[in-house]
Amino acid sequence: MSPQEALKKYFGYDTFRPHQGGLIEQTLAGRDVLGVMPTGAGKSLCYQIPALCLPGWTLVVSPLIALMQDQVAALEQSGVPAACLNSAQTEAEQRQVFAKAWNGALKLLYAAPERLETPGFRALCKEHPPTLAAVDEAHCISQWGQDFRPSYLRLPELIEELPTRPRLAAFTATATAAVREDIVRLLGLREPSVLVSGFDRPNLWFGVRQTSGPTEKKRLLGDFIAERPGKSGIVYCATRKAVDEVSALLCAQGFAAGRYHAGMDSADRRQMQEAFLYDRLSVMVATNAFGMGIDKSNISYVVHFNMPQDLESYYQEAGRAGRDGESAECLLLYSAQDVRTAQFLLSHSREAEQELDPETAARVRGQAEQRLRQMTFYSTTNDCLRGFFLRYFGEKAPPSCGNCSNCLAHTEMRDITIEAQKVVSCVYRLRQRGRTVGRALISDILRGAKNERVLSSGFDTLSTYGIMQGIPGRTVAYYIDLLVQAGYLTDTGGDYPVICLNGRSDEVIRQRKTIVVPVREGVLREKPERARPRRGGIPAVSGPVDDGLYGRLTALRAKLAERAGVPAYIVFSNATLREIAARAPRTDAALLEVPGVGEAKLNRYGREFLRCIADYEAERRGAAKDED
Ligand code: ADP
Ligand code: ZN
Repeated sequence: MSPQEALKKYFGYDTFRPHQGGLIEQTLAGRDVLGVMPTGAGKSLCYQIPALCLPGWTLVVSPLIALMQDQVAALEQSGVPAACLNSAQTEAEQRQVFAKAWNGALKLLYAAPERLETPGFRALCKEHPPTLAAVDEAHCISQWGQDFRPSYLRLPELIEELPTRPRLAAFTATATAAVREDIVRLLGLREPSVLVSGFDRPNLWFGVRQTSGPTEKKRLLGDFIAERPGKSGIVYCATRKAVDEVSALLCAQGFAAGRYHAGMDSADRRQMQEAFLYDRLSVMVATNAFGMGIDKSNISYVVHFNMPQDLESYYQEAGRAGRDGESAECLLLYSAQDVRTAQFLLSHSREAEQELDPETAARVRGQAEQRLRQMTFYSTTNDCLRGFFLRYFGEKAPPSCGNCSNCLAHTEMRDITIEAQKVVSCVYRLRQRGRTVGRALISDILRGAKNERVLSSGFDTLSTYGIMQGIPGRTVAYYIDLLVQAGYLTDTGGDYPVICLNGRSDEVIRQRKTIVVPVREGVLREKPERARPRRGGIPAVSGPVDDGLYGRLTALRAKLAERAGVPAYIVFSNATLREIAARAPRTDAALLEVPGVGEAKLNRYGREFLRCIADYEAERRGAAKDED
């Protein structure tokens, strides 16, 4: 089976996301790979698809039981034979899993690193070594990252002992170079193909609110949740005490809020988590103990009641919002006290350090403090928030994203049509002379500068020479940035970046399109209307969504989920359901066309969904007749 076929058949999608394709191709070609992608980018498919296409079975090493269970449930729903081994299972359950594995009845087997050392597991691998070993959350192996787990260090030994070495695929959302190098070295990846995907999640809005302390935060939080009825969200707090207080407060205000922290007994925790996954609770108030492995895709907001200890944790936790690609919000409620709380937690709660020698412990500690400083800068900056963390994760970012609290507070929509025409014509004239140059020189030409670089090339004879005289160089360069950002010019990047025309440049000069873009306040003068919040992009559906039908489909999904014993989003995501409501398919084939509907789900649920649509349409026709 080709990767493309597997994607459609099991998961119901037509296209791979950027980087999924490359990682899968390399894995199938027998290379080791390292995939660095933000939460929600779709790492799981990068090993699930190869697992389906390769002979034999795939071992998935994963740090948390909840994570494995959720993934296995989702795979089973998609018709993929998968199972997990964990310490929460009875011996009989484990025996059953082993029996399936021995019989070759599994394509994927998930296990925590500790599980791999058991005699049963070793015997299995000796006889039937996996074809692929995938390591999820691979940063757990590094001391430089957050969540260092020494048990990951034993992984390479185990792999070394297998009679044939499986290809290795490691995945993480932590992008710093030190962590990446550690993963490659410590896991023993052999000449891995490393793919780092863009860290931006355009559908997420980011915001920070400066507050005076807990009282103001509680008031803001109550208002925030009240304004989002029917939405699902997580509220992260730094301490158990805060979790208890905030959840009690929200319950008293009438919200369906749950709570989750490591101080609760495991039955309570499981119950709370389930209620949230099944949408019986709309808000979960939790410490960072909650969430790793929560793949609930319909989370619309993540509020941090306290500042976390580092941007890695923040981005991972906030990134649990909007996994289904719908627009979602990530809000951080900051007060100066948060810094002290975070410092206190840093010095008291690093269990992992217990096992470390003093020198290593000091280094781990120093790194953590460094990260906390960056987190604090994020919480207090006036610059674009998205730009801040993208640069922190080693990416380039435009000066303004237009979809974070700082950009929206300090951004206005501006018509820059005239300036755009001048800039693009200049690049066009340069190209006629066979030249492409950087933004500084373009700016010099437009401003009519008489310096050596301009004069020696005879650029003062260009028709666009001096047409933006009197405008500061900084401002002209900013116009160029805006045009690159809006897609009308291309910046080649690299060590000697130059600005070139692209397929859309014509819209500016030939078609004379009106160009309106979000502009940071104060950079350009004069001041028209404020930007309206752009709030991510709701993924395109193929037509208007019929709300009545969508309601019916949601109710049906809830019923089917209950019957199958899985959360609603595992049956179909909101995005898939909306698309079904928009297309109102009448046949199996049409339903199968909808992204997110694979063969297993068609067989399992297709009939009932088609019936629901048919009934709804018949009723509507009946109602229309009555009115005639
Ligand atoms: P990660 O592990 O990187 O946080 P997941 O593997 O949980 O992300 O994927 C996030 C969501 O994106 C899931 O709901 C998944 O079904 C969806 N997804 C992944 N790949 C694709 C794709 N190629 N097309 C559409 N949706 C996808
Ligand atoms: Zn921004």
